[in-house]
Amino acid sequence: MFWHDDISLMDKKIKKIGVLTSGGDGPGMNAAIRSVVRCALSQGFLVDGVMRGYRGLIEDEVISLNHRSVANIINRGGTILKTARSEEFKTLEGQKTAVERIKRHAIDALVVIGGDGSYRGALALYQKFGVPTIGLPGTIDNDLHGTDQTIGCHTAVNTALESIDKIRDTANSMERIFIIEVMGNQSGYIAMEVALGAGAEDVLIPERSFDYDALCQHILEGGRKGKISWIIVVAEGAAKAPEVAATIHRKTGLEARFVVLGHVQRGGAPVGADRILATRLGAVAVDLLAKGCYGKAVGVLQDKIHIVDLSEAGTRKNPHVKEYYRLIKILT
Ligand code: ATP
Repeated sequence: MFWHDDISLMDKKIKKIGVLTSGGDGPGMNAAIRSVVRCALSQGFLVDGVMRGYRGLIEDEVISLNHRSVANIINRGGTILKTARSEEFKTLEGQKTAVERIKRHAIDALVVIGGDGSYRGALALYQKFGVPTIGLPGTIDNDLHGTDQTIGCHTAVNTALESIDKIRDTANSMERIFIIEVMGNQSGYIAMEVALGAGAEDVLIPERSFDYDALCQHILEGGRKGKISWIIVVAEGAAKAPEVAATIHRKTGLEARFVVLGHVQRGGAPVGADRILATRLGAVAVDLLAKGCYGKAVGVLQDKIHIVDLSEAGTRKNPHVKEYYRLIKILT
C-alpha cells in the first residue's frame, strides 16, 4: 500500500502523539499546541514536541511534553516549539530520515500545525510512509481549502489595522499619500481585509492586476475634489511599497510615503478568535487520531468543524476579492 510498507505505522495502536509547528509562525499556534497536548494527555496518550518543524525532526530535536509544559501559553504569540522551513524534508532522503526519527522516539502519529507547504509535508509522511498525520491550519494567510479561517489570520489583520489607524492620523494631518505594505506573497487576504477594515482608498493584491495610470488618475481626480489624504494597501506579492510610492510620485508629482509593516503582523498575543479556533481544532485533531482517522486536515466551515483529506486541503483563492474590492471603491 505504501512506498515503504516495512515502516508503516498505520496498523499500530497509537500510544504517543508528536506535535510540531512548521512554515511561517502565526499567533495562536501556542494555543493549538496546548490544546493538542492537554487533550492527548486527557485521553491517555503520551506527547512529544518536535522543535523547529520538519528541520527539527530530521535533526532529532524531540522533547517530551506534559501538562505543565504548555501552561500559560494560550495568550502568547509565536510558538514554543519554534518553527522553520526545510528544503531537505522535501526530498525523499530527508523524509526517510524524518520517519526514522519518528520511529526512534516511538511517535505513532503526528499533528502538523502550518500552512499549505506544511500540509504537503504531512501528506508525504502519510501517503509515502504510512505515518498517521493530521494537519491544523496555522497560517496568517487564510488561504487553505476546507476552512473559512486559519489560526493566526484574525490577529494578523487586527495588528495591521492598529498600525494603519495610526498612519491614517498622520496621513490626514500632513495631507499625504501613504502606501502600506502588508504580508501576503501569494495571497491578498490580509491586504483585502485591512483595506476594507481601515477604510483604505485602494488595494493592490497578487490576485488582481492593476494599472498605475488608472491609480494615479484616480488620485489626481480625488485631489481636484478636495481629497487630502490617501491610504493605499499593497500585499507584498503584488508590488513593493517603495516602488509604488516612487511611481505615484513620478506620475502625479505628489509626495507619497511608504510603510512596510513586515513581521509585526506575525507577532503579538492572539486575539480571542484565534485562541478559540486553535483550541477547538487541536481537540479535534486528537479525537481523529484516537478514532484511527488519519491523513486529514481540520478546519471550520460556517463555524462548524470541517474535516477534509490532506490531499484536498491545498491553497484556496480568497472568495471575497470581488465583493471587497467593489466596496472599497464605492466607499472611497
Ligand atoms: P506559510 O503559509 O506560513 O508560509 P507553509 O506551511 O505554507 O506556511 P512552507 O515554507 O511552504 O510554509 O512549507 C513549510 C515546510 O513544509 C517546508 O519548509 C518543507 O519542509 C515542507 N514542505 C513544503 N512543501 C513540501 C512538499 N511538496 N513535500 C514535502 N514537504 C514540503
